Amino acid sequence: MGGRTIGGGIAGVAGAARDPLAAGDAGPGAASTTVRIHSVTTFGTVDGPGIRYVVFFQGCPLRCRYCHNRDMWGRRGGREWRVLDLAADIERYAPYLRPAGGGVTAGGGEPLLQAAGITELFSLAHRLGLTTALDTSGHSTVSPPVESLLDECDLVLLDIKQMDDARHRELTGVSNRLTLEFARGVARRRIPLRLRYVVLPGYTTDPADIAAFGEFAASLSGVEQIELLPYHAMGRYKWEAVGARYALHDVDPPTAEEMHRIREQLAPFSVPVRMPEVR
Ligand code: SF4
Repeated sequence: MGGRTIGGGIAGVAGAARDPLAAGDAGPGAASTTVRIHSVTTFGTVDGPGIRYVVFFQGCPLRCRYCHNRDMWGRRGGREWRVLDLAADIERYAPYLRPAGGGVTAGGGEPLLQAAGITELFSLAHRLGLTTALDTSGHSTVSPPVESLLDECDLVLLDIKQMDDARHRELTGVSNRLTLEFARGVARRRIPLRLRYVVLPGYTTDPADIAAFGEFAASLSGVEQIELLPYHAMGRYKWEAVGARYALHDVDPPTAEEMHRIREQLAPFSVPVRMPEVR
């Protein structure tokens, strides 16, 4: 799913009296939080229910070796947008998004870096009758702004990258402590939670890693499903574009047998496991 770079002012595009966002506050001079966005896609189908408007927020504190959004790391990149203007763009698509529980997904980069702006965005999405989903690595303390954001989340898609802390650091550059604590916080709030796990041969496929992940998933209430995502190198060109070395050039995607083996190992943990068709 390709993103598009948003451009041009669109505040008040549907500024009629029946406009849910036009309560006298959506004009060009209205107060609104500013967020930094890399791009959006208006027809997402894998980041939550229904059809979704996916916003890719700029900036990420992790340094995942397999990152396919290498161009979203820097917090100063992307483009600044007022949340009200972004919501006005979303409103144009709302009739197509509402059926089947569709809505808005905040991803990135790491959306938790911009929690206040996304809270405002999700609140406006709810006024439009849309669902909200947060697609995150969970690398954040559950601070008051993050708590406010979770209050506006209908679904959290959380990446668990590695259960072993030392190997997590090796893979992402940071500890997994905040992510695991974040997962527990989401579960305590009983927000529907989907866990995502990238199957990266040699880095996340050890049976001990899978067992630890299964046990952790089973210990959380509200986990709707586990999504197994086979590693791919499609983002490699973005590393090369910024002159960075792609460290996994000699790692192949997992085989179908490996994906099935991991799914079978997770079966006893009683959490539904989803994965794409792999050959
Ligand atoms: S959390 Fe996502 S955007 Fe950030 S480095 Fe990892 S893969 Fe890339």
